[in-house]
Amino acid sequence: MTGKLLSPDEPPACVTLGQPNTSPFLLVCDHAGNRIPRRLGTLGVSGSERQRHIAWDIGAAEVARRMAERLGAFAILQSYSRLVIDCNRDPAVPTSIATISEDTPIPGNENLPPAERETRIAEIFRPYHDRIAAELDRRRAAGIPTLLVAIHSFTPVYRGVARPWHVGMLYNRDDRLSVQMIALLRAEGGLTIGDNQPYSVSDESDYTIPVHAERRSLPYGEIEIRQDLIADAAGQGEWAERLSRLLTIAWSRISS
Ligand SMILES: [Zn+2]
Repeated sequence: MTGKLLSPDEPPACVTLGQPNTSPFLLVCDHAGNRIPRRLGTLGVSGSERQRHIAWDIGAAEVARRMAERLGAFAILQSYSRLVIDCNRDPAVPTSIATISEDTPIPGNENLPPAERETRIAEIFRPYHDRIAAELDRRRAAGIPTLLVAIHSFTPVYRGVARPWHVGMLYNRDDRLSVQMIALLRAEGGLTIGDNQPYSVSDESDYTIPVHAERRSLPYGEIEIRQDLIADAAGQGEWAERLSRLLTIAWSRISS
């Protein structure tokens, strides 16, 4: 299908890893990619800015890929930059298509005509979330228990303030999985663990977990890893191993 935004030779809005299966773990990565549809050029943002965390979650896709292999889990990754449309925001909130991110203006998002906004929702946001919903529907129909795991990464310094956490567990209404994971991560030793840090989950600042997990009463983990720890293959492997191991223990505790 040829859309108004994505050309046939460009990657689809989301890519999947593995095959839908009966593993309890379903992995999602809202900010896996920093691609910008060709038709949008650079959005007026420099190449170096487009490599920064404002464009995507550095390292998160590779951690998710390695976790999917370790856990035998199906994974759904979103390919396009959050500067195009943030797939972890309700499209109704102003930061869905940001005109400024941290201190960087996004000229290509200024004065966006409603039809352009609708196109980004229709061709990037909606297909990604429809794919997640379809997999959750399939699992529900088949009676497969599900733990939804969202993998993110955060910048070590935000607006000049250093962040001390190595990893954070984020939650809102349902802390079942986070309570277990925070205890297990602390027991690893030598790590500073964020309990709803550097962010927390809310209906305004998030979309994936409130909509796909909380509305379905599914347990979930929203995991934020500090991006300098997963910038290379060694760090990505270390964190994928740790998180896969601890998620397996945490799941056995909350599902028994
Ligand atoms: Zn993210």
